[in-house]
Formats: sequence, C-alpha cells, structure tokens
Amino acid sequence: MKHLVHGYLRFRKDVFPQRKDNFHLLAERQAPDVLFITCADSRVVPDLILQTEPGDLFICRNAGNVVPPFGEAAGGVSATVEYAVEVLKVKHVILCGHSDCGAVKAVLDKKDMSRLPMTSKWLKYVEATWQYREPGDPIGDKKAQHTALIHANIVAQLHNLKTHPEIAAGLAKETLQVHGWYYDIMSGAIEVYDQHARRFGPLEDSI
Ligand SMILES: [Zn+2]
Repeated sequence: MKHLVHGYLRFRKDVFPQRKDNFHLLAERQAPDVLFITCADSRVVPDLILQTEPGDLFICRNAGNVVPPFGEAAGGVSATVEYAVEVLKVKHVILCGHSDCGAVKAVLDKKDMSRLPMTSKWLKYVEATWQYREPGDPIGDKKAQHTALIHANIVAQLHNLKTHPEIAAGLAKETLQVHGWYYDIMSGAIEVYDQHARRFGPLEDSI
C-alpha cells in the first residue's frame, strides 16, 4: 500500500496544483464524449494510451470487456451504458479488447472454474463468442488462436452492445457511433474493427 500513498502525496503536491483549474471546472459537472468499455486488466490504461485528461472518458471496466446482451441482467455494464447515452449523451462508444487477455484465455484453455463460480458465470458471455471467429482465423498455433478469440470477443460484444435500446436508437438517429478496438500490450498499437470489411486494421488508417 505504501507506494499508493506516496503516489497520492505526489499527486496532491505536484500534479493537482498544476491542473487545479481543470479540476475546478470538472468539480460540478462532466461532459465526456466517449464511453470507453474495456477489460479490468492492469496493463490497459486508457488515459495513458490515448493521452486523455480527466473528464474526457467515461470508463466501464470488467473482466473480458463484456457487455451482456440487453435484458439478461440489470448489471453494472447495462446501467453504465444507459447512463452514458441517455444522460451524458456520449457520441462514441469504444469497446476495447487487448492482447494476452486472461478472461479470454481461461475460456480458450477451458480452465477449471469450480473455485470461481462468479467468474465462470461471467465468462459464459465470452464462451458465446466462438461463433464470431472469422473463417480465415488460424486454428493451429495457441497464441494465434488466443488472438483470434480476443478479436471475436470484441466483435461479439459489439453485437451485444447494439441489443441495448439506447445504443440502437443512437445508431439509427446517427447521434452515436460504436467502435471495436484491439490494444496490443507489447507494441502499444491499436487496431480498429472495420464492420463492413470484417477485419481489424491500424487505428491511424481510420481517420
Ligand atoms: Zn483482459
């Protein structure tokens, strides 16, 4: 815990004073344009990767960057999506998976989950993503299989996202866009899913 408290003290002493005006502006309201849904993995740090500031991203995290289909459970993800779209009026929803995802690996390796009943239930949403693998995806090499399933999971969760009525309405009215991203921890590169071509390509090529 010590390094956390030391970090906090550095923040109060050095960082906060420099950004005081921004924090004061944000103290009573937020108006982020982006809902960012990603894995709980400690190596994925959205504000660092995207160089964003407090107030920029409304973030929702869980094991495996899962969005349960609408109506299955009044869980934290559904509530966060609803609030982001209906109240904050975000213009973009980014669903971001990442390399070496443990949640996807547990499904791929068919790990014994008897000691993790809650995780096991949650990962059923990842198990259901096999059907979204592309026919050309490699089936031999374990690492390639893992990446293919991580990609499929991103595509599947985008589908689930669109079952939420506020997302479907936003897409129909063109007030909202959804994006599927894959973040590679080793290189720092982000790929974006092209929903028409059904493949991932460099994020920088999409602008
Ligand atoms: Zn993960």
